[in-house]
Amino acid sequence: MEILDNILDIIFPPECGICGKIGKTYICENCYDDIKKYLYFNENDDILHLLKYEGIIRDKLISYKFNDKSYLYKMFCEIFEKNKKCCDFLKKYDIIIPVPIHNKRRKTRGYNQSELIAKELAKKMGLQIYVDVLKKCVNTEMQSSLGKNERNKNVQDAYIVANEEKIRGKNIVILDDIYTTGSTVNECKKMLVAANKIGIITIAKD
Ligand SMILES: [Zn+2]
Repeated sequence: MEILDNILDIIFPPECGICGKIGKTYICENCYDDIKKYLYFNENDDILHLLKYEGIIRDKLISYKFNDKSYLYKMFCEIFEKNKKCCDFLKKYDIIIPVPIHNKRRKTRGYNQSELIAKELAKKMGLQIYVDVLKKCVNTEMQSSLGKNERNKNVQDAYIVANEEKIRGKNIVILDDIYTTGSTVNECKKMLVAANKIGIITIAKD
């Protein structure tokens, strides 16, 4: 796979996700310096937020999630990797589980934005990724369209667990894109009772 990745990098050289500069990385040095002000990091041992949901980060996340810019996962993943705190945080876990989206939404969007990043991070950090354990069984309203009070109710009982044996006694990290009230990740966490330890990592904190 690495050979294929290298060949693809020659045919389609990486492009900075912010300024578009072609080079060897998905975020150039100048843009990385610019976004350093948005780096957020953790509130406690079990939660880590990479960035603040503000300015260019907010714009890029909206493009990533709603405007069909799926390729931006490489930029976000590179920002994760550049940060030692993130790498150290991820090393505490065996398995990464991206927050699932409902099949119907996946069909319309074409991809699960959290899964693309989780896959890349798992590959780079040597974690396992499971996408067949946590599933979204109810096609809920978009959390972003709801007020803070309605969000808990919206995701209640929206997820189911399959293949529970795979996570028994394991250390799991759940990856989500944007953390606002925490309703989504907390509901997911509640479902993974068979795990030993559960952490949460998000791209951005609103
Ligand atoms: Zn740039």
